Amino acid sequence: MDLQALLDDLATESAPFAAQGKVADYIPALAAVDPERFGIALATMDGRVLGSGDWRVPFSVQSVSKAFALALVLARDGEALWRRVGREPSGNPFNSLVQLEYEKGIPRNPFINAGALILIDRLLSLAGDSLGTLRTFLREESGNHGVDVDVEVAASEAAHGHRNAALAHFMASCGNLENPVETVLDHYVRQCALTMSCGDLAKAGLFLANHGLRADGSRLLTRSEAKRINSIMLTCGTYDAAGDFAYRVGLPGKSGVGGGILAVLPERGVLCVWSPALDAHGNSVAGVEALDRFTTRTGWSVF
Ligand code: GLU
Repeated sequence: MDLQALLDDLATESAPFAAQGKVADYIPALAAVDPERFGIALATMDGRVLGSGDWRVPFSVQSVSKAFALALVLARDGEALWRRVGREPSGNPFNSLVQLEYEKGIPRNPFINAGALILIDRLLSLAGDSLGTLRTFLREESGNHGVDVDVEVAASEAAHGHRNAALAHFMASCGNLENPVETVLDHYVRQCALTMSCGDLAKAGLFLANHGLRADGSRLLTRSEAKRINSIMLTCGTYDAAGDFAYRVGLPGKSGVGGGILAVLPERGVLCVWSPALDAHGNSVAGVEALDRFTTRTGWSVF
């Protein structure tokens, strides 16, 4: 199969779907991104990275970072995490407050905002510097030592982060935060504001396709832990549209409101697509379209 030609075709066919979506504007700095950007990259297990369109252009990774944060916490803490966060789809928007109160400060899963705040809180306790630990990991796995925080995006989110602050304070009131709310929120906005290209992200995610083995051959996760993260990506990784994403794409995926989606092709590689215009759930419209077309044409899905 000519994968380069396929990625080029997908870029041409899928990019126009962005017209059906809208760039996130609740974080003002994200609203400035050109909605016509489109990139797609495929990192394969044999070390190749192919791409088309804007696949080398860095963008705001936002919640795509949560898949990596989960891996770093599980690697250090194992099953202990599940006392503080669940692993069921939420069926609610990613920044919803209402469910958290009913469920006594235990977030439904690690990929909604409340759950991601728990990941950061735990990584702060385990590693001292949550953002620094994650950034080092992403630099090492992607091979791009320039991966860093966009301070303008971080400041913009911090200035408009009342909902995340509410989630964090509520969890603290339930005894489900170990570190000060302000510290957790600071690491959270900087983590979301990391910028990476599709090529960087696809490479950085390869351990998820490789049963937990890192780029240097060392083991980050057991085979079983890698399976569990992929499973949570499949059931919870694309907001409250994870069912539709599984139906259309048939791969574990994690999306972010910057318009990126990371999708894992077990034992084959990792795809990353970026198109900033989002549907009502927060997933990139053209991104989901491209992934749907990719798995439909190649037959490479987990099903
Ligand atoms: N920083 C964003 C927020 O907290 C991340 C949302 C996302 O990408 O899902 O709202």
